[in-house]
Amino acid sequence: MRKPKVIFIGTAGGRVTTFRLVRRSGGFLIDWGTVRVHVDPGPGAFVYLKEKGIDYTSIDLIVLSHMHLDHTADVNTLLEACSDGGKRRGLALFAPASALDGPDRVVLPYLKKRLSTVGVIREGAELTYKDVRVKAVMKHQHHGAETYGLSFNDDQVVYLSCARYEEKMLKVYPRRPRVFIINTTFYSRRRDIDHLSVEEVKELIRVCEAKTTVITHFSMEMHQRNPEKVAHELSQELGLNVIAAHDGMELELE
Ligand SMILES: [Zn+2]
Ligand SMILES: [Zn+2]
Repeated sequence: MRKPKVIFIGTAGGRVTTFRLVRRSGGFLIDWGTVRVHVDPGPGAFVYLKEKGIDYTSIDLIVLSHMHLDHTADVNTLLEACSDGGKRRGLALFAPASALDGPDRVVLPYLKKRLSTVGVIREGAELTYKDVRVKAVMKHQHHGAETYGLSFNDDQVVYLSCARYEEKMLKVYPRRPRVFIINTTFYSRRRDIDHLSVEEVKELIRVCEAKTTVITHFSMEMHQRNPEKVAHELSQELGLNVIAAHDGMELELE
């Protein structure tokens, strides 16, 4: 059996790094060994998975944290690819209701028939598919989009997706997860934009004490500051293991 790992397909966040292709997008893939989950397949995920040598039909579940394009651009392409054009059964999708239905839906209605299971993500609720349990830790404030922070398999991987900072996060985000992925778009706090900064997540990293904290989803500001250096400084200051994701990075869940 393969060792479980997280593959960071892309690490861009914000319009400039994403849409000028300064960094790749495409979210991340959790390979549990027996089951594969792709989270937030943004622009390029389809191509980058192939580059990584990942067989589309080995992906069992696609999860969307919210409907923004940088997290969902390739979802429809993956519904075709992962279901082998509908020939392979057993593909599931978990997403907020707004990404599935309504005026801002991002999943093409005609492609829903490619799916064996559709799960609607709701705050506090847990969804299960095969050996994967996905719990919506909390609903975030994020430019009016229905967005959730997610925990996979009893906090083995916790994902704090895009969000405005809230004190509540210190209470509800789980303690001692194996891997804590945080979309840390900025270095300095930006009150006008609903994205997290290093300044804001520091306390959260401290109280959650993950075995490994991974910062990702970088704006130009973070990109230019050198995320590896920022992560190193956080590790030193907090006495915890904090790393910065880079495009294509693989992290084993030891
Ligand atoms: Zn985003
Ligand atoms: Zn977003």
